[in-house]
Amino acid sequence: MELKYTRKNVYKEADGKELEKIYDFAEDYKRFLDNSKTERDAAVTARAIAEENGFKPFSFKEKLKAGDKRYFINRHKNVFLISVGTEDVSEDGVRIMVAHVDSPRLDLKPNPMYEDSGLCYLKTHYYGGIKKYQWTATPLALHGVVMLRGGERKEICVGEDESDPIFYITDILPHLGQEQSAKPLGKAIDGESLNAVIGGLPAVGEDGEDDKEAVKTAVLNLLNKKYGITEIDFQCSELCFVPAGRARDVGFDGALISAYGHDDKVCAYPEMRAIFDCNSSHTVIAVFADKEEVGSDGTTGMQSRVISDVIDTIAYSFGANPIEVRFNSKCISADVTAGYDPAYASAFEKRNSTFVSCGAAVSKYTGARGKSSTNDAPAEFMGWLRDVFEDNGVFWQTGELGAVDVGGGGTVAKYIANLGIDTVDVGVPVLSMHAPYELISKADVYSLYKACLAFIK
Ligand code: MN
Ligand code: MN
Repeated sequence: MELKYTRKNVYKEADGKELEKIYDFAEDYKRFLDNSKTERDAAVTARAIAEENGFKPFSFKEKLKAGDKRYFINRHKNVFLISVGTEDVSEDGVRIMVAHVDSPRLDLKPNPMYEDSGLCYLKTHYYGGIKKYQWTATPLALHGVVMLRGGERKEICVGEDESDPIFYITDILPHLGQEQSAKPLGKAIDGESLNAVIGGLPAVGEDGEDDKEAVKTAVLNLLNKKYGITEIDFQCSELCFVPAGRARDVGFDGALISAYGHDDKVCAYPEMRAIFDCNSSHTVIAVFADKEEVGSDGTTGMQSRVISDVIDTIAYSFGANPIEVRFNSKCISADVTAGYDPAYASAFEKRNSTFVSCGAAVSKYTGARGKSSTNDAPAEFMGWLRDVFEDNGVFWQTGELGAVDVGGGGTVAKYIANLGIDTVDVGVPVLSMHAPYELISKADVYSLYKACLAFIK
């Protein structure tokens, strides 16, 4: 018996074999990340891996039976992976793991295109909590879909291939930046100045003559040739700029990974791998949620009825009462938390922070001020989960998101808990959260994978 609690560093505890597993898992994770920058990309990736693993499309009409593996892609942006177990769902409920696959980024405005001073631009409206200054003077890629007249759907992804062009938002040079430098950080870059350069070659000849927007004309011509797009089609599109780089190892030892969108793909990937790798006797649902960064509203966010509808469908398949199924269900809300950053120590309370490389991060509650707007997981459920983790050798730690009254944050945990399902936040500590490139430890993403396996086993 250990009388005193001490947080353990996973890398210190791991033997050579475990270390190899940690680094191998990180390679798979990086591949997933690079192919899953937006929720739509993540849904495409998840579907492909689900099919490889023998999962079949789900239907609300279907009568499911033990052993069935299903995937349900809700409107291209929200994924449900379902593995039906042998246990009685009335008594056992379902084991749910939810992570979100949307990340902060720059969405295009509905009427985004204009020309000024010989350059063509796309205007953006930022999505989620960003520090605007981090998005200037950095390579950007364009991802998304455009609906053409008549229902044809065009997928666009430019800036990821080495041979692709990238897009670029300018910043003022320091020589002329005195006024900007005197502003508070949050005001230094205006939201309306986040316009990306997408062209500079004017149309010539017949097209360009007397054309005050000859560059815009030429770019529209290019887009029309390649995708069949005309300007009005932007109004029926979902396009966004994301950082153009790939996931990279950080440090001489490669212990960490820097990438766009760890929040929250660093949780989505482990929960997905867990449902594929574990043939559980429980009925398990792994969810990739959309819209978390903007409040979880809409048809693809976790405030939508859809998750309840999926549970109802499972319940009805076995003639069970869905109310009873939900009441007996358990959920891990898998989302990142703010890891302790010694460079910004005053934002944290060290005893109650999570630390990089110390394992899966359990947060009993999130919220702000006096625990406002949180699911505060019951002690009984925390106790159950602690036993599960410790029985299965899961490295885990606990902490709050920052010191009291410094700020705060929330996750989808409360929306699942509001359905009457025991829920707790379990995730990965992140440094520079919501920056174009965030930082995590390979040890932690692997620990979360082990936590997910233990939870559904
Ligand atoms: Mn998150
Ligand atoms: Mn976030």
